[in-house]
Amino acid sequence: MACKEKISMLIDGKKELYERASDSIWDYAETRFEEYRSAELLCKILREEGFEVTTGLAGMQTAFVGSFGSGEPVIGILGEFDALFDLSQVAGITEKKPLVPGGSGHGCGHNALGVGALAAAVAVKDYRKEHQLSGTVRYYGCPAEEVGSGKAFMAREGVFDDLDAALSWHPGDMNEVWGCSSLAVTQAYFKFSGISSHAAAAPQLGRSALDAVELMNVGANYLREHVIPEARIHYAITNAGGLSPNVVQANAEVLYVVRAPKFRQAKEIFDRVVKIANGAALMTGTAFETVIDSGYTDYIPNDTLSRLMSEKMKELGPWQADGEEIGFAKEIGETLTATQKATANARVRDREELGVIRETGIAGFVSPYQKSDTPMPGSTDVGDVSWIVPTAQCSAVTQAFGTPGHSWQVVSQGKSGICHKGMLLAAKTIALTAAELFEHPEIVSRAREEWKETLHGESYLCPIPPEVKPAALR
Ligand SMILES: [Zn+2]
Repeated sequence: MACKEKISMLIDGKKELYERASDSIWDYAETRFEEYRSAELLCKILREEGFEVTTGLAGMQTAFVGSFGSGEPVIGILGEFDALFDLSQVAGITEKKPLVPGGSGHGCGHNALGVGALAAAVAVKDYRKEHQLSGTVRYYGCPAEEVGSGKAFMAREGVFDDLDAALSWHPGDMNEVWGCSSLAVTQAYFKFSGISSHAAAAPQLGRSALDAVELMNVGANYLREHVIPEARIHYAITNAGGLSPNVVQANAEVLYVVRAPKFRQAKEIFDRVVKIANGAALMTGTAFETVIDSGYTDYIPNDTLSRLMSEKMKELGPWQADGEEIGFAKEIGETLTATQKATANARVRDREELGVIRETGIAGFVSPYQKSDTPMPGSTDVGDVSWIVPTAQCSAVTQAFGTPGHSWQVVSQGKSGICHKGMLLAAKTIALTAAELFEHPEIVSRAREEWKETLHGESYLCPIPPEVKPAALR
C-alpha cells in the first residue's frame, strides 16, 4: 500500500477518537498555563499509544513530551491546546452567543491543533514501526501559545535542542503551507503606583496611576507614526485602578505587546515605549515598574521542508464538504461585513478558486506553495522552535472562508464537520511529511544545510529574560 493510503487509513481508523478529543478540549476551553484537563487528555492518548510521556517540562505543569522509538532522525511534532479569554460561544450557530458569559473559548482552533498534531504523531509512529524505519517521533504538548509563548519557555530550557526537524500546523480557512516569516514580539506589564486621595476634598494630595496609564497610551499612540510600518503596538489596561471615580487611583497597570519582523526591531521599539512610560511617570508624579511577561521570535521558514509538506498536502488533496457543511459555511460567511469579505477575497488570485469559494463558502482546494519575504502580520511561538531546528507548518481549512481569527465564528465552527475534516487533513499532511523524512533522512540533512545558511551564523536568543517564569494571566 502506498504511503498516502496507509497514513490515511491509520488516521481515519481512529477518527472518532480524535474528533471526540478535539471536542472535549473545545469544551474545556482552558487558557494559558492552566490547560490541565486538555494536557491530561492528550497525555492519556499518547500513553495508550505506547509513547513514553514526560510531563512538567520547563517548569510548566501543562508542557509535556511523548516519545516513541530511538535514534535519528528525531522528528518533533508540535501541538497547542490553549483557549482565549472572553470568547465563550455556543457551537454550531451563526450568531454571537456566549455559552458561559465571560468565559473562554477556542477562538484560534487550538482544540483541533493539538489533536491533529497528535494524530499525525500516532500515525507516523505506527507507519515507522511497520516499515521498520529507525528514528524517534516526538509529540510536544506546548501550552500557552496565546499571549504566553509556552514554546519560548520550552526553548529556553533546551527541550527542542536535539530535534532534527519540527512540524506543525494551524487551523485556518485555506489549505496551504507557510512560506513566510511571522512577527517577533515583546510583551510587558507597566505597573504604575501613585498616591490615593479623596478626588474632591484633596485631589492636590493625590498622584494618579490611572492618569499615568492614560498619558502613556497617548504617548505610545504618537509613537506609531515613527516606527517601521510593519511594527504593531497593542495595549490592554489590565488594572484601571478601581471602580471609584471619586478616589484618586493609586495603582494602575497596562499590558503592552510590541511586534516587528525581527526581535531586535521589536526590542528597539519596546525600549522607546519604556521611555514613554518614564515620561508618563514624570508627568504624573508616579512611579512605575516594567514586568516582562513573554516574547516570541520571528518564524524562519524552511524551504526544503515546506516544499515537501506542500507536495504531501497536494497529494492528499482538499477534503470534501457535504451539504450540511456547505450550508453552515455559507451562513457563517453571511455574518461577515462587506469589508471582511473583500479583504478575504483579495487573498485569492485564481478565478477558479474564487468560484469554488463562491459556490461552497469553503476554500476547497490546496493553494500552491509560495515563498515570500513579507512576514505575515501575526506571531507564533513556533518561531522560537524554528530558530533551533528546521521547521515547517501548514494551515488546513477548519473554517468557512474569510472567518476572522480570534472570533466567535471560529469558536462556533470548532466542533463542526468542517473543523474535524480540516484537522484530519492536517494530521495526514504532517504524518506523510514525517514519514518521508524517516524514509529519506538525506532530506533532513538538506533542510539543516538550508537552515544554517538562512541564519547566517546567528543563533537563538530567547526573547524572555531568564528571571521571568511562566504564569497564568493575572
Ligand atoms: Zn493560534
